[in-house]
Amino acid sequence: MNFTLPKLAYELKALEPFISELTMGFHYGKHHQTYVDNLNKFIVGTAYENMPLEDIIKNAPDGPIFNNAAQVWNHTFFFEALNVPGKSKTTCKQIEEEWGSIDAFKEEFSKAAVGLFGSGWLWLVENQDGKLQIVAESNAGNPIRKGLRPLLCFDVWEHAYYLDYQNKRADFIKNLWEILDWNVIGKRF
Ligand code: MN
Repeated sequence: MNFTLPKLAYELKALEPFISELTMGFHYGKHHQTYVDNLNKFIVGTAYENMPLEDIIKNAPDGPIFNNAAQVWNHTFFFEALNVPGKSKTTCKQIEEEWGSIDAFKEEFSKAAVGLFGSGWLWLVENQDGKLQIVAESNAGNPIRKGLRPLLCFDVWEHAYYLDYQNKRADFIKNLWEILDWNVIGKRF
């Protein structure tokens, strides 16, 4: 299977001032593209050559094929849930029920995102009991490998924010809430 870089629903500059066009040019145009290119290169002649992306993530052992497949999936999921500032109302019934309020959820999720050591991803998932759960994953980690269903993710690799925020990951995390598209996220529940 030849994987391709998915189109964005918005322009590279659409997330400004919270994520710059420059950052998107590198993050989407270079990093995401490179994961796609590397995956296509590494699967040639392997058992993963004709496998759907999610099956590769579930089945590939730790290593370059898993890392690149997961990074393709993670970035697609991350960019898909962003849009111009203030596009949607922050609302989600199940989050409100389980955390008491959206703000309480945002606080716990943000704290975990800021506290994740090194590169990785912060996830909101639905577990096997249908309950919501916050999960931190290092590097390319993706919760579908553990049988969890992803609903939202934040990229906390330095390449996601360093050009705009340098070492201030907390400011990046705080601003990501401003550009989430809850219409997209809501459909995942
Ligand atoms: Mn990234």
